[in-house]
Formats: sequence, structure tokens, C-alpha cells
Amino acid sequence: MGLLSGGVPRVRDGCFLYVSDRGLAHLILTLRGFGAITFGHVIVSNVEPTAAVWRHELRHVAQYERIGLAFLPLYLWFRATRGYRDHPLERDAAEAPRLLR
Ligand SMILES: [Zn+2]
Repeated sequence: MGLLSGGVPRVRDGCFLYVSDRGLAHLILTLRGFGAITFGHVIVSNVEPTAAVWRHELRHVAQYERIGLAFLPLYLWFRATRGYRDHPLERDAAEAPRLLR
């Protein structure tokens, strides 16, 4: 998926990061309204991830390490049945809301 994004990967925190505004992953990101997406230890992002986005995606990497290959079907199932806001994996990856940054 990363290679299909047409980007050149970088290694960051033990993960491969592709920043790309083209290719298959970009198409999926755009169609689904995501800014970044994680496949195992590969993170594809439309733009250079902010620190907060990076922490969020690393949390998905940790989830993937626990759940394994079931991560993607489970993620898509929750996405289809609960949407984004009530998605258990997204809630788990979300940072506690802060009044000030
Ligand atoms: Zn997420």
C-alpha cells in the first residue's frame, strides 16, 4: 500500500512513513475522508503528520500489534456499524481532550 502511494518511505519510531499526495493510498484517504491511515507498521499520510496525528497513528500501530491481521476487518466493521465517533479503536487512539494546547 505504501509503495502504491508512490512515496519514498522513511523510518520513524520503528514504522515506515509514506507522505504522499498521489497513488492508491491517497485515493483511499481522500475517498474515506482520512488524513492518514495505518496498515500494520506502515503509515501513509497526505501531509507530514503533526505530533498529535503521529501519536494517534502510533496508537493504531500498537492496536495492530495486539490484534494482528484481524485489525483491518475489525476496523472496517466498527467503522461501518458505529461510524468514526463511536469507533472503539478510534476512541482508544484518541487523546484526552484539552482545554489549552
Ligand atoms: Zn484513527
